[in-house]
Amino acid sequence: MKPSIIIHGGAGSGRYGEGDKRFSGLTGAVEAGLAAMKKGSGLDGAIAAVSSMEESGLFNCGRGACLTAAGEPELDAAVMTGEGLAGAGVGNVTSTYHPVELARWVMENTRHVLIVGERTRDYARLAGMKTESVRPSQAASKRFLALVKEERHSRAVELVRKIEGGGTVGAVAVGSDGVPAAAVSTGGMWMKLPGRVGDSAVLGAGIFADKRLGAACATGTGEEIIRCALTLRACGFMRSDDAQRAAAKAIAFITRERGKGTAGIITVDRKGRVGASFNAEAMGRAWWDGEKGRIVGKV
Ligand code: ASP
Repeated sequence: MKPSIIIHGGAGSGRYGEGDKRFSGLTGAVEAGLAAMKKGSGLDGAIAAVSSMEESGLFNCGRGACLTAAGEPELDAAVMTGEGLAGAGVGNVTSTYHPVELARWVMENTRHVLIVGERTRDYARLAGMKTESVRPSQAASKRFLALVKEERHSRAVELVRKIEGGGTVGAVAVGSDGVPAAAVSTGGMWMKLPGRVGDSAVLGAGIFADKRLGAACATGTGEEIIRCALTLRACGFMRSDDAQRAAAKAIAFITRERGKGTAGIITVDRKGRVGASFNAEAMGRAWWDGEKGRIVGKV
């Protein structure tokens, strides 16, 4: 099977042009994913794509993460492969800019599907990862001060949708083994309460994969995505619909139930077809167009 991958850089009002660094951040992530899939699986591809966006500092994840109401970054991430419903998430990570790698380690080395909080530092060490205190980026600190000044903390959910810039990142891919897989990483929501864990750490909410159906990855307001079990729902639609139709149906569902501006989703079905849909103003995304043999980006 030919490799297939689609990634997103978050849904919101942050529309940016093709000349923007974030646009090349998206297409570069697809390149990183494709390179990993030359030797590896769809899971390797999805993780490599997400890792490159964590490292870039351009998106709301890894080095570019948003801050809690206490002014600190707390990162969530997850991975899942359609083979045997294997997957795991990590939440409130503060010791590595690459929580997606840590999620993979949890999936491969423990019997658990969710590990959160200060203890994740111990597992990052056990995993042999470089541990360091995750610090706010300069841009995030500036934004935090502006928000505090504006005294608009209680409107955090509205605010996050208005914030310009990159959002949560995610990738879904099918490698030559034909197994759909997904990876996601985020700083969560601006001004979230410390300790809050969002959809991006939770299987069935921010991420899901099942080789009989496909894989999906969500972005948007985590609480609404969890309530709607959005990616599980999208994968369910892929029993009879292709990836694009399943994505559109999942977004139609969350829009009906929880309103506009709540979510975006990317999907890949078991045949390797990709899909994307969102009910926010924009969702930066990029994918490999196998027929044309090139990477396509849309912002
Ligand atoms: N879904 C993420 C969260 O709520 C945020 C986002 O996608 O922008 O944690």
